[in-house]
Amino acid sequence: MHYIMATERVLHMKGGDGETSYTKNSLLQRKVASMVKPILEDTVKRLMSNFSSERCWKVADLGCSSGPNSLFFVSNMLSIMDNVSMSINHRKPRVFQIYMNDLFGNDFNTIFKLIPDFFQRIHEEKNDNHGRCFIHATPGDFYGRLFPDDYIHFFHSSYSLHWLSQAPKSSTNIDEPLNKGNVYITNTSSPSIREAYFNQFEKNFKLFLKSRSVELKSDGVMLLTLIGRDETHKIGNPVEVIGMVLNDMVQEGLVEEKKLDFFDLPIYGATAEEVRQVIEEEGSFAIQTLRTFNIGWDANLHEDVDDSILDSKMKGEFVAKSIRAVFDPLLSVEFGEDTMDEFFTRYAKKVASLIELETLEYTNVVVSMSKVS
Ligand code: SAH
Repeated sequence: MHYIMATERVLHMKGGDGETSYTKNSLLQRKVASMVKPILEDTVKRLMSNFSSERCWKVADLGCSSGPNSLFFVSNMLSIMDNVSMSINHRKPRVFQIYMNDLFGNDFNTIFKLIPDFFQRIHEEKNDNHGRCFIHATPGDFYGRLFPDDYIHFFHSSYSLHWLSQAPKSSTNIDEPLNKGNVYITNTSSPSIREAYFNQFEKNFKLFLKSRSVELKSDGVMLLTLIGRDETHKIGNPVEVIGMVLNDMVQEGLVEEKKLDFFDLPIYGATAEEVRQVIEEEGSFAIQTLRTFNIGWDANLHEDVDDSILDSKMKGEFVAKSIRAVFDPLLSVEFGEDTMDEFFTRYAKKVASLIELETLEYTNVVVSMSKVS
């Protein structure tokens, strides 16, 4: 009997701070956050002008995961606020309540352990001119309610909203595989597969928008960055390669064919137009900025190494590590922990061969919006 796993129960990034952890393998996500900084700046400026006499700011980061990236967002936001208040000569002391949200299985402890150094750093940099900052954890599913009504000023989420609450279902027969021989949409997928994925995304994203609009104060703002899709790319998302490798392993008898047939990844890369369409149909938010930008799968391979000296083998290994930190927990449940080393060795080789033939890039969608009052 086929069952659909609820993401909420099983999903978490690889915890701790070991070699294969998300903490050690999330440089790409950090680079994305740096690229979005100008839009973060505009969003924070709008926020500050919407609430010009506010003293206590409530800000939530949704899908914060467990690495240093979550605090990276917080420090960026604090320094932008600081610069803006200096420029308008608005130096009254402020209080920040920062809410870090992720699913129940997230390794929040890894974030907590980074907090003392973080506090010390902002204290040294700013001599406490930032105001006081309190950090809270809010475990829960963002496809539902997380906060009281009329509570938050600013919602932020980076690289999380392409996760669906579950993989799409076959609308006709649950015992039939929807997406035989694949784990995601590929350029050979039938329109019904694309439609099933889009429908699940639409349902989830509408619920997300509705929930956030109730929780936001009027004039509150929201900034979202998600992995999107560019239909001109032949291979757009590294998860397509997960399907290729699993297929090879089925051919060699290392993975059961049925397991592959019934397994689909609960993620969806929406186009910018689809994001716009869902936001407009849902109706709680007015879009200020909607943009796309690309980033290589192997971007930020090493912070201080010149990318041009890296060969395709190293790039393949880097992509495999960053994909492992995200997908290992989910794939282990389905295909067994003991196949993971073999799987990711093959994955690295596959990416290394593909990267020689074409440019492998993510397309990201970033959208900044305000609550419609
Ligand atoms: N923002 C971080 C983490 C991105 S990884 C960064 O930029 O590095 C995506 C995170 O979204 C994961 O930690 C995953 O657990 C979380 N996530 C996925 N679906 C979620 C949901 N429904 N509710 C809350 N968090 C979710």
